[in-house]
Amino acid sequence: MKATSTALFEAEGAGTLAPFEQVRPNVWALPLAMPMKHLPVVLSYLVVDVSGGVHVIDPGWDSDENWQRVLDALEHLGSSPSRVVSVTITHLHRDHIGMAARYRAQTPARLQLSRIDQLALNVDPREALRAARVQVDSWGVPDDRRAELDVNFGAEAESAPVEAPLQSDVLLDEGDDLGIDLGDHPGDGLGTHPGDGLGTDSTGIRVVLTPGHTSGSVCLALPGEKVLFTGDHVLPTIFSGLGLGAQTPSNPVTDYLEALDTIAIYDDYEVLPGHGYRFTGLAERRAELAEHHLRRSREAAAVLADDPSASVWSVASRLHWTAGWNNLQGPMLRSALAQTAWHMERAR
Ligand SMILES: [Zn+2]
Repeated sequence: MKATSTALFEAEGAGTLAPFEQVRPNVWALPLAMPMKHLPVVLSYLVVDVSGGVHVIDPGWDSDENWQRVLDALEHLGSSPSRVVSVTITHLHRDHIGMAARYRAQTPARLQLSRIDQLALNVDPREALRAARVQVDSWGVPDDRRAELDVNFGAEAESAPVEAPLQSDVLLDEGDDLGIDLGDHPGDGLGTHPGDGLGTDSTGIRVVLTPGHTSGSVCLALPGEKVLFTGDHVLPTIFSGLGLGAQTPSNPVTDYLEALDTIAIYDDYEVLPGHGYRFTGLAERRAELAEHHLRRSREAAAVLADDPSASVWSVASRLHWTAGWNNLQGPMLRSALAQTAWHMERAR
């Protein structure tokens, strides 16, 4: 892996905010601040089409300061809120969807989200809570640890869906073309040409469904410039949590591993992630991410081989956790237990 932006790489290390920066002649990265110490920055991206229309990828964390950063960025481009044509959201989490409502109120942009994550947003939170409780009840959690799993149910604050469900104007499915005309940009020499066999015959942006982090998480491929917007599917320094969207009949660990393979055709692209810094070397990062989860699957299988009737709690306590098993509490503990259950399912 190789960072392709010194400013973003150094800001990631220092926990600071890098300035708005150009990625390609028509692609820009806009770092936005978040109030979480462990994850202080989310990356929004702006793409400018041949007509000067601006297309946003991930609105980013909602705050007055961040909205001012958006306005400054548009001004820097010689543009304005009235020129924002579309806002595409990689997945339903608050740090990505955040300012969608501001874009809706203050620009003419159409909002675009995957069909699956829109359905997840529309689930009645009380229904989701009930389903989650039934799930936790099956994990063999000791009585004195049960209560903390009911607090902030589901995820950490930044991963929780927004309270009032946003209704997108366009529901995205696998393979959709976002209909953005970027013209024939030769770019910086890294660009390819239409019809080069990369799965698209346009210079526009294509939706690649990559479930795992959430069930409707998408990556967005821009073959004309060889860039892949990955949201939280692939991040340079963090292992994204899994299954942090709607519950599905499928196994989020298996979904995630398959979705890492799905994007192998973009291994020579530059990765524009939702957090951290942009980089090349996607194949190497995909392998690291896959191994992180495959190791857990192997560990769970080994525990079950010794003790086939072990509970989720019992298996989880014997797996390797980055933070250490004894340090996992509340939402982190709940996420660890959910992942353990999925690894056990894979082992059976
Ligand atoms: Zn995120």
